[in-house]
Amino acid sequence: MLASQETKVAYEVNGPLNLTEIAGWLRESDPRRLEALWRRADRVRQQNVGAQVHLRGLIEFSNYCVRRCAYCGLRAPNRRIERYRMPPDEILECVHQAVAFGYGTVVLQSGEDLAVTTDEIANLVRRIKRETNLAVTLSLGERAVDEWAAWREAGADRYLLRFETSNRELYHRLHPPRNGRDSDRMVMLSSLRRLGYEVGSGVMIGIPGQTYDDLARDIAWFAELDLDMIGVGPYLVHPETPLADERAYLPAAGDDQVEASEAMTYRVIALARLVCPRANVPATTALATLNRRNGRELGLQRGANVVMPNLTPPRYRALYEIYPEKACLAETASACHGCLATRIRNLNREMGQGRGDSPNRARRKD
Ligand code: SAM
Ligand code: SF4
Repeated sequence: MLASQETKVAYEVNGPLNLTEIAGWLRESDPRRLEALWRRADRVRQQNVGAQVHLRGLIEFSNYCVRRCAYCGLRAPNRRIERYRMPPDEILECVHQAVAFGYGTVVLQSGEDLAVTTDEIANLVRRIKRETNLAVTLSLGERAVDEWAAWREAGADRYLLRFETSNRELYHRLHPPRNGRDSDRMVMLSSLRRLGYEVGSGVMIGIPGQTYDDLARDIAWFAELDLDMIGVGPYLVHPETPLADERAYLPAAGDDQVEASEAMTYRVIALARLVCPRANVPATTALATLNRRNGRELGLQRGANVVMPNLTPPRYRALYEIYPEKACLAETASACHGCLATRIRNLNREMGQGRGDSPNRARRKD
């Protein structure tokens, strides 16, 4: 249980934000007040993490998954997608593109693919570390603590695991246990922290059954967990999932149901910045999918400081279909790079230099 929700989530600019106030901002619709929220988040971003926008090259190296998450197109029972797993040499080619584009980090992401062994991932991380100066982020789902330890030992720097929602009952409906074993992602995030990873997490916005109070508590959890990275994006319906027929599977929460909208995503990005001023916060692809023209730019102007150009070879990208009609599906890595670099320049922001480590790391060492 979150011990000090009413007092701890405090960022002293114009006074602390407690749970009630966070929920109030989530429901806010007055454009002038929202404009003030965007300005405040942008100011806090500038004061705490500066003008740089860090680029994290994303490699979606396998779409095999043993899980049955009710929201995701990669879930094991979905027989309608063709599965792929990139061989290590092909992954390394993408990694070297990240170096050529000047990125500081690669993010290796996949479904929970248990056919990729602990040693294979450890060897991959070692090779990346030997051949480049890149920071390595892993996003491979729920794996055993000794696997996380082995990858950390091999040189992995960061781990991303969204807790998706802090409402336990909703979480269990969305994320059925595997082999009858319950998972507690808050405990997993603490294990990752103990192992010395920079820890990233986050939630989907507007998943059926999510209330405003749930989402306010999620944001409070960002501060409680002292996250280094916070990834949030709208829930987007995938037709081959149980949630696509939400009334049958999981009813929405009536008047309290959070919308899976672009506008709600900006509110959550801004509030995430206010409760965790020094965190790295991406403007996500899911947001760009709702507003291809300038969703990322607006995210970057309302608290975000990271973007994740896609390095996955185009022939695999369409198969990594967690939701349909993802933004930038057909782009090559170099087109993605050019497009994002132009967008960052047009905002008068700087391309991040170096690895873009969490500023919290230095504080924790003190
Ligand atoms: N398998 C790993 C995991 O679950 O952590 C990493 C890959 S998973 C595809 C990455 C994230 O995609 C999940 O944490 C979830 O928040 C997001 N996601 C999955 N299905 C989605 C959907 N339908 N709409 C929006 N985001 C979704
Ligand atoms: Fe698998 Fe991750 Fe999708 Fe769940 S969210 S089905 S673990 S890829």
